[in-house]
Amino acid sequence: MREYQIAAIGGDGIGTEVVEEGIRVIQAIANRYNAFKIEVSTFPWGTDYYLKYGEMMAPDGLEVLKKFDAIYFGSAGDPRVPDHISLWGLRLEICQSFDQYANVRPSRLLPGISSPLQNVTSKDIDWIIVRENTEGEYAGAGGRVHKGHPEEVGMDVSVFTRTGVKRIQKFALDLARSRKAKKLTLVTKSNAQRHGMVLWDDIFDEVSADYTDVEIDRMLVDAMTTRMVLHPASIDVVVATNLHADILSDLAAALSGSMGIAPTANLNPEEKFPSMFEPIHGSAFDIMGKGIANPIGAFWSASMMLDQLGERRAAKQLMTAIERFTREGKSFPFDLGGDGKTRDVTDRIIEIIDGQNH
Ligand code: ATP
Repeated sequence: MREYQIAAIGGDGIGTEVVEEGIRVIQAIANRYNAFKIEVSTFPWGTDYYLKYGEMMAPDGLEVLKKFDAIYFGSAGDPRVPDHISLWGLRLEICQSFDQYANVRPSRLLPGISSPLQNVTSKDIDWIIVRENTEGEYAGAGGRVHKGHPEEVGMDVSVFTRTGVKRIQKFALDLARSRKAKKLTLVTKSNAQRHGMVLWDDIFDEVSADYTDVEIDRMLVDAMTTRMVLHPASIDVVVATNLHADILSDLAAALSGSMGIAPTANLNPEEKFPSMFEPIHGSAFDIMGKGIANPIGAFWSASMMLDQLGERRAAKQLMTAIERFTREGKSFPFDLGGDGKTRDVTDRIIEIIDGQNH
């Protein structure tokens, strides 16, 4: 029987709560189909760890993680530590070191869930936002000079490389090609950012020439926000920079019902390193410890992880169980208008999985 080694890092806030529930669901799927085994190792890295040891993860953390088939992640961020430390010390460290350059963020309006947009149905929102995940605005290039003085300067320099841009655009074109609608929108801001963004445009001209079967178009990022709200059904796959896609995917999550639902895959498509799967939401300290976080984003991420591991059938069955749960509309967590607890959602989804036909 195939066996997969998964590293689980709950991290901070509700991240730990939803990852714990996600592991229960993954084990339920593995038991139900009895075709593979999942061995989960949990790592206590995050802000508590930082406050104890001065680092967000163990010094040999990357070496340890490298041996796993995939990483299942919760969230990093805690008011006790500046965000740039918690983010760079764990999540970005993993994404960059493991060259997880393709950040894939699907958004769908699941059955039974309503969008804040009026008259929008499941058919209208079925998007995948592909975010460049290793460079651009989050490359970490820049600095601060004259610290604390009136003439202090802070700079963040966006870094766009031909290799980095080409590979993410190619990835998005291949993904668009594999879908029914076969459409890809390139999002930039090349009217105002006239160097790096124009490089994105130029490379897109070259790369997309080989994809005549994919319907392509281009949008400026500000206009894209309007299109997502006013003409959601016109969108299929979107490719954008690290910063732009970060913002667009939060909007996409909200338009598809809640921040609690949306998943993310941080992929190293060449599989030289493990890929990492996580819900799109952050630590949400306002609801931490109350047992009310919506775990669906973490479950959907688990489904993406199974898919990446090659367990397509199990991945699909997990999504089917999630959709059956949302269609039923019982035990909805508070962000979806119910009073179900995190565990109630998990228990019901496991019940559905246990009752599924092979
Ligand atoms: P970050 O800065 O890391 O993005 P955050 O805590 O500032 O994290 P998010 O976690 O992204 O913000 O979410 C914003 C708000 O949405 C939260 O404060 C919370 O009220 C709500 N929210 C997010 N995730 C969930 C969830 N899984 N279930 C219920 N509500 C959620």
